[in-house]
Amino acid sequence: MRALSVHADLIVFISRFWQTTCTALRAGDEGFVIDSPIYPDELEALPSVLEQADFPVSGLLATHADWDHLLGRIAFPEASLGCGESTVRRLGAEPGQAQRELREFDDEHYVDDRPPLALAGIQSLPVPGKLSLGPDERGHELELHLADGHTPDGTAFYVPWLNVLVCGDYLSPVEIPWLSPGGSVDAYLATLERLGELVERAETIVPGHGRPQGRAESLRLLGEDATYLRALQSAGAEAELPEGRRTKAQRRIHAENVERVRAAD
Ligand SMILES: [Zn+2]
Repeated sequence: MRALSVHADLIVFISRFWQTTCTALRAGDEGFVIDSPIYPDELEALPSVLEQADFPVSGLLATHADWDHLLGRIAFPEASLGCGESTVRRLGAEPGQAQRELREFDDEHYVDDRPPLALAGIQSLPVPGKLSLGPDERGHELELHLADGHTPDGTAFYVPWLNVLVCGDYLSPVEIPWLSPGGSVDAYLATLERLGELVERAETIVPGHGRPQGRAESLRLLGEDATYLRALQSAGAEAELPEGRRTKAQRRIHAENVERVRAAD
């Protein structure tokens, strides 16, 4: 796991698996951890690294209900976990799904030292909405924005006092747009439009997978992703993948997207 100090009050951890990101942010004596790394040793290291950096953890947040973003409670079993209302709805509609998919991942990758994942008592946060933290409520309000389309749920977190956007599984330098069950091209494109306004305000964009990006780079990815999605809608399998994201793994995601769009027609 890599740890990048993006700002004195913001650290991004990048998991060895899927380059999944976990963002810790601090405001005075309060702090949040958004999403999670994957492997048990990465989760185990998280509390001590944050303690050494003097980052308090007052609560956990998740961008969406895919299992790979929900593992924060393994590192901080006592912490409260908050998610946008669409994510809480999805978790309620598919009980045990995240745990099942986590078990499948662990079986496949020979992981046998995983503590159980408890997802009870998640706090539902209104989206769009604001979440205040730290000593001075005026200066430290996280913004929550709807970010669905990859999945039927999703929340992007904007940190206005640091000009950082934590957007979940969008604008990734390593992954093409992925339409998971419940995702759709139309919702995805609408989210890209909303994210575009936030990217314009941001200095750093933290995608769900891959290294943090600057504004210009994220705007380029946004354009490429929108072009790909429109081509997917009109040309299906023939749609060209964005340059730099044409690996075998990305072609597999593309094939899945083609099926998803076909089934929706
Ligand atoms: Zn993901």
